[in-house]
Amino acid sequence: MAAIIVHGGAGAVDDERRAACVAGCEAAARAGWARLEAGGSALDAVELAVRALEDDPEFNAGYGAVLNRDGVVEVDACVMVGERPAPRIGAVGAVPWLRHPVTLARRILEDGEHVLLVAEGALAFAREQGIVAESAATMVSPRARARFERHEGETARRMRTGDTVGACAIGADGRVAAATSTGGIPWKRPGRVGDTPLAGAGTWAEAGVGAASATGHGESIIRALMARVAIDRLRGGDAPDDAARAAVAELVRVGGDGGIILVGSDGRIGHHTSTSRMPWASVVDGARASGAEPRSGSDEPRS
Ligand code: ASP
Repeated sequence: MAAIIVHGGAGAVDDERRAACVAGCEAAARAGWARLEAGGSALDAVELAVRALEDDPEFNAGYGAVLNRDGVVEVDACVMVGERPAPRIGAVGAVPWLRHPVTLARRILEDGEHVLLVAEGALAFAREQGIVAESAATMVSPRARARFERHEGETARRMRTGDTVGACAIGADGRVAAATSTGGIPWKRPGRVGDTPLAGAGTWAEAGVGAASATGHGESIIRALMARVAIDRLRGGDAPDDAARAAVAELVRVGGDGGIILVGSDGRIGHHTSTSRMPWASVVDGARASGAEPRSGSDEPRS
């Protein structure tokens, strides 16, 4: 049994963008699945899937990431692998002009000395690893520029999340992994770090239980420890969809909106969002599925 599910961010994806966002998720899920099928690890699969989404200008990650209020792209990312006695984690926060922060996060995981590096220190580690940062000339998508010029995040700060990306997978060896990558929220202060790179908030993976990647209002996701809530529910016996729903309910309880995807160590997947849409795609044992709306039978979307 192997499986992968990816998301393209919880938010109000409008009708014109829906197809492109779902297609981007499908392509990323297929790329991750191809790696799993070829015997690759869950970590390989989630990194590859997230890299594909970081290259896609529809999404707020890598190329396409939103600008902060100084006009700079600062990205956050995390990768986790469920292992005993403790998960392996690599994460980066507020790193300027990095196209593939998920890969830098993976290098931190593999290096093993630290869990989370931020800003200039993270860039110095990137350089040691042969990863070079980009610039405004190469990394600002037309959509990100337009959003910045409209000061979109300033006027409706809490609701303007969206287009963050993530992936969860289980490999043939039963190991689970999760990865999440984002430019954060539009019009954020320089140095702001959201939930994405914080283990237990935006991302969590636990051996023998499952892996989760969250999206939505980061400050609220941190307060809800959303990804960890989902995995705790899985451990307690919830089906993945129910665990996703419980984690979203906890996020809403603390005043936030957002969504989550997860894979259980039995290979079942789940997803849910409190927003009107969260593009997602999955491949479970070769069977593909995708969509953008919350699970049917769920509560009315809140935004
Ligand atoms: N969670 C991300 C953040 O707050 C935003 C998003 O999911 O769209 O940084």
